[in-house]
Formats: sequence, C-alpha cells, structure tokens
Amino acid sequence: MCGYNVESSSHIESKDITAQFEGALSSLGEVPMLKVYTSGSFLDVCEIPEDALDHILGYCSERGTRLLFESRPEFITDGKIKEVLERHEDLEIALGLESSNDLVLKYSINKGFERKDYDAASAILRENSVPIRTYVLLKPPFLTESEAIADSIATITHASRVSETVSLNPVNVQRGTVVERMWKRWSYRPPWLWSVLEVIKASAGQACRLLCEPTGGGRERGAHNCGRCDDVILSSIKAFSESQDLARLGWPECSCREVWSGAKEIEGYAMGGAGDLQKLTRRARD
Ligand SMILES: [Zn+2]
Repeated sequence: MCGYNVESSSHIESKDITAQFEGALSSLGEVPMLKVYTSGSFLDVCEIPEDALDHILGYCSERGTRLLFESRPEFITDGKIKEVLERHEDLEIALGLESSNDLVLKYSINKGFERKDYDAASAILRENSVPIRTYVLLKPPFLTESEAIADSIATITHASRVSETVSLNPVNVQRGTVVERMWKRWSYRPPWLWSVLEVIKASAGQACRLLCEPTGGGRERGAHNCGRCDDVILSSIKAFSESQDLARLGWPECSCREVWSGAKEIEGYAMGGAGDLQKLTRRARD
C-alpha cells in the first residue's frame, strides 16, 4: 500500500536534506516542536547521513525544540538512542507497528519485522524515557472490513501499553502499489469512515492519546462513505483528535450506514473478496 518507493529519488545527498530542512524552517518561525518525517527511518544512515542528523539535532538542541521522528525498530538500539539523547534530549520517536498480528504484518503488509521487534524497540525507548508514538494501519489489503476493524482495535490495545500517542492511519490508495492494482479491479476498498468511527469509539479512553487524520479522507482513494456524510464525520474525527472527547465524534443519520453494516455481514461469505460488492454501491471513479 505504500507508494513512497515509487515517489522517492535515490540521488538525494546529505546537503539536499539539510537544504530542505533549512528551507522548511525559514517559513516556520519559532515553534516548540518539529516533526521531521522521512516516511522511513530517521536513524538509518542510508536515509539520513550522519552530518544531516547532526545538523537537525544541533538545531533542535540549540533552541530547545522537541523533535519527533520515525524509525523502524531495527535501528533502535540502546547505544544509538543514548548517542542521540546526548546530542538532544527532548525527543519523541514514532514506530510504525501497523498491526500487532504477525500474520497481517507478514502477508498483508510485507513489513519485514514482527511484533516482538516492536516490543523490543519500545522497551529500549521506555528505558531511556523517550515518549513513543505508534502508527496503526486500518485495513491493509486481504482483510475484510470486519477483520480490519478488529485488527486495529487489538493493535491499539497492544500499543497503548507503551505509547504516549497512537495514530490511527486508514489506508489510502497510492499510485504504483499493489493496493492500487487491486482497487482498480474492484478487489479493494479503502475503509469506510464508519469503520474509523468504530475503531476510535472502541479504543478511546485507554491510557494513551489517540489521533486520526485520514489521508485523502472523503475521497475515493481514501477512507470514505457515501459522499453525503463524509465531511461531517471527518470534521468530528478532527475535533476528537484535538480534544480526546468522545462526545465530539459525529454519528450522522445516513442511509449508507446500512450499506456498510450489510457489507460487513456478507463479506465473509463472498468469494474473491467483498470489494466486488462495491460495483453496486460505489460512486463513479475519477
Ligand atoms: Zn453516508
């Protein structure tokens, strides 16, 4: 489902990263916190060379800016974390767990690590008092809508034991991916916004903060409903993320809720995937 390998260039050098960082900062002004998203691993020297890392850590350390970056678990060792903390101690580190189910990690996501690797990395971060943000993926391919909801709820429960923040990320259809090929053949539908609401409702109130901002929400390639109720639900999800108040979540009256609920009931019996059912209910595609 991830299209970054298609979008990224292999000719980027350390000086390009530093220049991009400086360029972005010049338009920001003074801020208390920076998220530096590599959409990969900030601690992988093949992605962020040592001098670019030094530059960014030095900047944050001088200004007392909290730095959030993400990393795969294999780059999180006690030695590496201590080394980074020596240069800048106000960190938050994001881990893309996606699913706490090893079968989903292996067959739906091709993640290349198992839940125990996430557990080991999060233990190291906690020993070093680094707050953890965990990414959870809603509806990777080859899961039914119901399986996807259950998988995300179980994953958030697992992650919330060690995380300060959990970010729920519904899959969106990116260009050049297997998911896009399946989507074009009616074999994949991004999650319904009803499903996003259900996962949030079941998971809120655990120890951690729960955030959700669906990429491409309300559009055919992102988490969406029928087109009439999408905006109301999306703005309620935003209001919930900001307030953590479940009362802010919106459950508008809309007939598409019946379609969602019916699709969930029969999808387990459908041969070849319930995506086929979308032919009957889906809006015209761009
Ligand atoms: Zn609707």
